[in-house]
Amino acid sequence: MNKHSFETFGVNSEILKALTSLRYFKPTAVQEAVIPLALEKQDIIVESQTGSGKTIAFGIPLCEQAEWEENKPQALILVPTRELALQVKEDIMNVGRLKRIKATAVFGKSSFKTQKSELKQKSHIVVGTPGRILEHLKEGTLVVDKVSSLVLDEADEMLNMGFIEQVEEIISHLPKERQTMLFSATMPPQIERIVSFYMSPDRASVRMEASVENTPKILHSYINVEEESKKKQLIDLLTIENPDACIIFCNTKDVVDSVMKYLDEAGLPIDKLHGGMDQDDRVEVMDEFRSGKLRYLVATDVAARGIDVDNLTHVVNYDVPFEKENYTHRTGRTGRA
Ligand code: AMP
Repeated sequence: MNKHSFETFGVNSEILKALTSLRYFKPTAVQEAVIPLALEKQDIIVESQTGSGKTIAFGIPLCEQAEWEENKPQALILVPTRELALQVKEDIMNVGRLKRIKATAVFGKSSFKTQKSELKQKSHIVVGTPGRILEHLKEGTLVVDKVSSLVLDEADEMLNMGFIEQVEEIISHLPKERQTMLFSATMPPQIERIVSFYMSPDRASVRMEASVENTPKILHSYINVEEESKKKQLIDLLTIENPDACIIFCNTKDVVDSVMKYLDEAGLPIDKLHGGMDQDDRVEVMDEFRSGKLRYLVATDVAARGIDVDNLTHVVNYDVPFEKENYTHRTGRTGRA
């Protein structure tokens, strides 16, 4: 049997069939490392980027372990944003489709009542943002006594968004006897504190290097350009590609300003994001970009860190990034789209 195949994990044939229909033919690096450990119900800390295939890395074991007959939720996945909650729910439903695994997504600024009635029905796996999960716990609309796996997805983003206290409160409601898997692109000290408080001392650690090979489904290409004609070629490229939502990364604020001016004068729906702007202006630009009013955003790495845009179709590296990791951070953003 091929070593690099989903079959080697020994999971249910219904899951294997679902993976084939999704056209996932072989595991990504993070999936190869995580799935065997997760199937053994080990606690795991995984340092990996978006775009690495991490959702399926925990999705397969959760679907494999879920018992269809059990009506109460058996796994809880905490995520920082509504978009990610919906994406993770969809990925889980896709993997568990033939096993008829039902996943429910809950998040704020959306009808509590609708979510309550969804949770009342069979829900094997619940994914949600911490605030809303906590509300459901307090209202008794989410029952967690059968939860045997907890996933903290994009833990560093949950920390950045100030959700850590809520995460800890949620954990206090969960059965002590459980598996905890933590996924994070970076490991700041507060995350390590969570790890040492709430995870087994025998936990496994998986660290994936940020690399182009570790992120599937993103088409990478480069164009040789002369410095003098770079901006003109950028416009030609954007005309040919006609992206729905595109971020153009530059290394410095000055380059951002000059590219922005050029594209703006060419009549493109564009704005910019860099560290020199105040927070309110940045939020306003991001809202316009998310809503689709702007199709292009010119940004520096720092300004664009942590932004979450659904359906980003293109990333242009106008400047080659200074750090190798930044290339992966930049391009990983299209991984979900
Ligand atoms: P994630 O890191 O979970 O956001 O996944 C990034 C992208 O990789 C998603 O579009 C997945 O559909 C895709 N993906 C996940 N696993 C595989 C795989 N084994 N083969 C090909 N694509 C995959």
